[in-house]
Parts: sequence; structure tokens; C-alpha cells
Amino acid sequence: MSKGLVTNAAGRRVRKPKLGQHFLRDEQAARRIVEALGDVSQTTVLEIGPGNGALTALLVRRARRLIAIEIDKVLAAQLRMQFATADNIEVIEGDVLSIDFDTIFGPKPGTSRPGLEWKPEPVDLVGNLPYFLTSDILLRLFEYRRYFRQMVIMVQREVAERISAKPGTRDYGLLSATAQLYTKTERLFTLPPGAFNPPPKVHSSVLRLTVAPQLEKLGVQEGPFIDFLKLSFGQKRKTLWNNLKSQYESGVLRAALNATGVQPNIRAEALPLDKTAALFRALASRNGATS
Ligand code: SAM
Repeated sequence: MSKGLVTNAAGRRVRKPKLGQHFLRDEQAARRIVEALGDVSQTTVLEIGPGNGALTALLVRRARRLIAIEIDKVLAAQLRMQFATADNIEVIEGDVLSIDFDTIFGPKPGTSRPGLEWKPEPVDLVGNLPYFLTSDILLRLFEYRRYFRQMVIMVQREVAERISAKPGTRDYGLLSATAQLYTKTERLFTLPPGAFNPPPKVHSSVLRLTVAPQLEKLGVQEGPFIDFLKLSFGQKRKTLWNNLKSQYESGVLRAALNATGVQPNIRAEALPLDKTAALFRALASRNGATS
């Protein structure tokens, strides 16, 4: 039987989906991750990818309410059995990239009666993320940040370094700027491959992201500013000028760089978020976008 193939519902042999299943076996590390959330006795906790329950078993005893989203149907079924007697956990079999967070956390129909009105409840998120999906999951969580207070996540060490990198350092890039636009990032600790079964090829780091969007403070509109960040970081080796000139006329670009004191030969990686935002605002006020 070929490795990496499974039989699908139609009886066909298909490639096994990649799920990033490396299960935490270091109990002390599991406790440290859960403790990084602080007191959750009055809080709803959302766990992404509970797997075989290393974090879930600790969380269910501490959280007021626990919602765990697991894509693997066998693992989801096992978790439901394992926690059948707990009344504060809901295991959702689903894909975190397509699950409807508004349905889970948003206003419910029929709760407009006085006393029953919907109030947003701050949710703490935790997860040892499937590494190949880290950026996609983070972008989705940032999109739904209105529901989240903090996120304690385990990611590949190199990705943690990028997420928390300071401007002007080697690791600072689009992922750092985006994460820091929405959250305050803290690196907590790192684990070796042997903390997991099976061991991954890389080290893993735990991060705490406290949701604190900067959009208002920076005076930028979300969609256009994200597009601007993507353009600025477009080609890593290019200067800011070269990355921006495809969208802005050179006269407008020069004037905006001058007005904000940004050198044209700088790279986006060297620019702090407030300077990038100032440049974006200066360009927007000159209405220089050519597309
Ligand atoms: N939390 C467990 C632990 O620490 O031992 C498992 C972590 S393992 C690195 C990642 C888990 O995420 C796996 O259980 C995997 O099945 C699940 N997973 C992968 N892709 C997912 C997705 N798109 N949505 C929800 N869960 C997913």
C-alpha cells in the first residue's frame, strides 16, 4: 500500500491531507502554555487543533468554557469521548480556516429581549498550530480579532522570530508588520523537537499575542494599508522606492518621501510601522495611486 495515501468516501485512493500532527508529550511544557493564558476561570477559551488533548485536558479544568476545533475526525471523536462527562467543552470537527467565528461568538438571533442581549465575550485563544498553516491561520484570526483578547500559540521557532522581529533586523518583514499592526507580540519559550511525538524537524516557540490593533492610532484604513504593506515588502531585495514605483508616480512618491523624512533607498524592512503609516498617509493625501 503506498505511503501517504488514504481511501476517500468514494473509495478512491487519494493523497493524505497534510495536518501537521506533532503531538506535545512534554507535560511541563503543556502546563507552561496553559499558564501563559493567566486566569481563565471566567473566560471562554478557543483551542485550535487539540489533537490528542495534551492542552485540552488542562484547559477543561481551568476554563469557564472551552471550544476546541479539530479537523481530524478520528481525533475529534476521541476527544468527545475523552471529555464526555465535562459540561464546559464543545469539540467542533472543522477547519479553522473556514469555520464561521461569527456563528460561534457573534450575536445570536432571538437574544434581543431585555436581559438577554448579546454582549461580546472576550475569548482567549490557544493552540499548537499546524506549522505549514501558521500564516493563513494568523491572518484569519486577525480578521476576526474583535472576538479575541489574547492568543497563546506555538509555531516554528523561525516563524516566531519573524512575527516578533523589530524593524531593521534581519527577520522583520510582512508577517512581522502585520502581526504587530494587530497585536503586541511576546516570545515566551522554545521547545526542542523531542518535546513532540513524532518529533518535527524544527524547534518550536511559544508566543503570546495580545490583541491591540494600531489602525486608529496610525490613522490608516485597514484594507488599503494592508495592500500598501504588501506592496512595500513586495520584493525583499528591492528598495522601498523600487517596490512602490509600480503604483505611484515618481513626483508624488518623491514628495511623500520628502515630507515624511524617509530615504528612498531604504528597504521596507528598516521602517518602523509608524513611519510606514506616515508615508502611506502622505501618499494617500497626494492621491498619488495610479491604480
Ligand atoms: N494541540 C495538540 C498538541 O499540542 O499535542 C496537537 C498539535 S498538532 C501540531 C496540530 C493539530 O492541528 C493536529 O491535531 C491537527 O489535526 C490539527 N489541524 C491541522 N489542520 C487544522 C485545521 N485546518 N483546522 C483545525 N485543526 C487542524
